[in-house]
Amino acid sequence: MPATERLYYHDSHLIEFEARVTDKSERVSGWTAVTLDRTAFYPTGGGQPSDTGTLDGARVLECIDAEDEGVLHVIQGRAPDIGASVKGRIDWPRRLDHIQQHTGQHILSQAFVTLFNAPTRGFRVLDESCEIDVEIANPTNELIEHAVELANNVIWEDRQITIKTASTEEAAKLPLRKESSRQGDLRLIEIDGFDLTPCGGTHAYRTGEVGLIAVRSWERAKGLSRIEFVAGVRALADYRRANKTARTVAGLFSAGRDDAPKLAARMVEENKELHRRVRSLEEVSAGVEAEELFASTSPNSAGVRVVTQIFANRDAESLKQLAQALISHPNTIALLGSREHDAARLVFARSTDTIGDMNTLMREACAIIDGRGGGKSDMAQGGGKNIEKLEEAINEAAKTLI
Ligand SMILES: [Zn+2]
Repeated sequence: MPATERLYYHDSHLIEFEARVTDKSERVSGWTAVTLDRTAFYPTGGGQPSDTGTLDGARVLECIDAEDEGVLHVIQGRAPDIGASVKGRIDWPRRLDHIQQHTGQHILSQAFVTLFNAPTRGFRVLDESCEIDVEIANPTNELIEHAVELANNVIWEDRQITIKTASTEEAAKLPLRKESSRQGDLRLIEIDGFDLTPCGGTHAYRTGEVGLIAVRSWERAKGLSRIEFVAGVRALADYRRANKTARTVAGLFSAGRDDAPKLAARMVEENKELHRRVRSLEEVSAGVEAEELFASTSPNSAGVRVVTQIFANRDAESLKQLAQALISHPNTIALLGSREHDAARLVFARSTDTIGDMNTLMREACAIIDGRGGGKSDMAQGGGKNIEKLEEAINEAAKTLI
């Protein structure tokens, strides 16, 4: 006789029950684990999370399957005494959610077997979605959506789901979707005319209760395809989130939801085009700007013009363009910087007829602004976090060139 009679085996919709406390033990953090002679609480197992609820008003946080020792109910608050009669109550919305995800998994897994002979190797109920690992050759969006289509048809046909018991010998002759490693009698879950599989979880009475299955995403993982799906209440919650996201994006374009992808793609293209246009205009303006900077800088005693300048929000490409325009003049060195809200950039360059190692100068300057940089002896780039010291970094570099 097992320590706990598992009422959920017979009725997955039983949410209230009476039982007697047969054992209790203190757990960490002052919680107590209570064992009952019978329970409707489903303990964590088979990829399905535990039920929660109350036991005589005390909170049941989690249930643990201790196999032959029964089901442990981890209680927060005052635990009942051994021998006491108690009233248990399951959190129904959570149980319904688990029934929908778990039964949905049976249906979706069988759909993959029916269509592609692709078995499911793993199943997990996560916080907001579920995952199955399917051994499917050459998965594509179309193949996966085909299985989802079949699964939803089975749901909408509202097929009956029954619990059967079979001995190991009887089960060996049945077309089970997966084998069980359990010894003794097997608990089989049959979806009328569609699926037969050994399972100890909580299932819907009929497939219609699952409501809907939708696949959120999938990826290849370790030779399998990991498929993320949602069923029932989770499918609705996910639709609401997805719809809100899509409508928010559409709102940025003052457009309808379904027009947003096209408009976003167009905007990305336009942005690229504008970027190209800005670059070519910058080339022109860098030439003009370089002339002005060159003209306003006097040569030093060695006849070299050291042009130093700090800009606001100028990207590396643009700084480089300006530096190149400057060093097209003979005897010229450009020490340019740009200040952004959280970073500083530097470009140092010299004309081929001057001497000086821009790479070394850049490394020294970057050390001052807490950053990194380098390059060749005639052109180097860098950046750092310490925006305050950008001017000092350029001045120090300029000093060495006087
Ligand atoms: Zn199951």
